[in-house]
Amino acid sequence: MVPITYRCWMEVSRAQLAANYSAVCKAVGAGVDVMPVVKADAYRHGSVEAGRVLQQQGARWLAVSNVEEGVVLRQGGVTTNILIMGDFLPFERPALIDYDLTPCIHSLPQLADYHRMAAAMGRPLRYHLAVDTGMSRLGMRADPAAIVEGVLAAKAARLEGLMTHFASASNYQSPQTAEQLRAFLAVREAFTVAGIDPKYVHLSASIPVAYGRREAWGNMVRPGHAIYGYVSPVRGGAPPAVVDVKPAMNWKARILEVKDLPAGALVGYGGMHRCERPTKMAVLAVGYADGLHHRLSNKGKVIANGRLAPILGAISMDLTSIDITECTPLAPGDPVTLLGAEGDVSLDAQQIARTAGTISYSILCGIGQRVKRVYY
Ligand SMILES: *Cc1c(COP(=O)(O)O)cnc(C)c1O
Repeated sequence: MVPITYRCWMEVSRAQLAANYSAVCKAVGAGVDVMPVVKADAYRHGSVEAGRVLQQQGARWLAVSNVEEGVVLRQGGVTTNILIMGDFLPFERPALIDYDLTPCIHSLPQLADYHRMAAAMGRPLRYHLAVDTGMSRLGMRADPAAIVEGVLAAKAARLEGLMTHFASASNYQSPQTAEQLRAFLAVREAFTVAGIDPKYVHLSASIPVAYGRREAWGNMVRPGHAIYGYVSPVRGGAPPAVVDVKPAMNWKARILEVKDLPAGALVGYGGMHRCERPTKMAVLAVGYADGLHHRLSNKGKVIANGRLAPILGAISMDLTSIDITECTPLAPGDPVTLLGAEGDVSLDAQQIARTAGTISYSILCGIGQRVKRVYY
């Protein structure tokens, strides 16, 4: 790798992203397509680079949340099918068409509109139909007969996929996943009876894939978290995880200054930390504006010189202080690891999220624009 001249950056392993994708493909087997989710800038791993790697590895579909994210992928040279999961508004229609993006349709009126659009253009615009099977978020919540009627009426558009999304996949004690599956199969059955056979049927994000819930796979799955190396722990007696994935990102910041503080010194805004003993402190070039969660103040840790170093006092917008008394020698310019591993010591998004009282997804997605990205 070339010498890195950034204050705060992340290193993303292309090979690890590829390996995670392969691990998911292997887990689901040849009959199930894998559509990696690269929304939210690939959970901040960089959607264009991740998209290119996944395309190279054989992914035929990628999923994003909105049209703008799809356009970014196309402009970055990605030529896979791209599914827009998070709905679109009238002003987004031209880009949807121009960039050959495939929308999920979430209501019967929207489906009728899409049909009129396809008819007006004389093109069999493709779509995936999203069913709300009980999560009460996006997706159509209508009885199966009404959905079938809507699809048959929208004959200028081409149904290519049927999908839903689970609300409680991480809780094996909850009956909600089984209930959602039943509701979904009722729609599927109504389609079959009406002679409608969508090419793709997909329901599962990372968790039902990772824990081998086969009956919920359909013939395509939509993993995001697992592609970035994470399988969330589940509650309530799940079988062991069947995918072996590892985080693909190391997030680092450099030390700006090192100083010796006497016992009794107050550190940072509000004097939140008082040194109980003489302390060697380092000031890092990272703050909450870079996505270091403010709730890690006086609580979180980073890895400095291969050891865990506590965060001292309040995290500032651009700066964070740590205790390196046990981690010397360290000097201005030296990097520390905020997320990732140094030798045997590691800190992943799940550990950080537990300390901050949030979820690992929000730790990854919260990494700021100012953090530079390096691929290897
Ligand atoms: C984000 C998302 C996914 C991916 O979820 P992970 O838990 O990251 O695997 C899949 N499907 C939908 C509809 C989503 O919004």
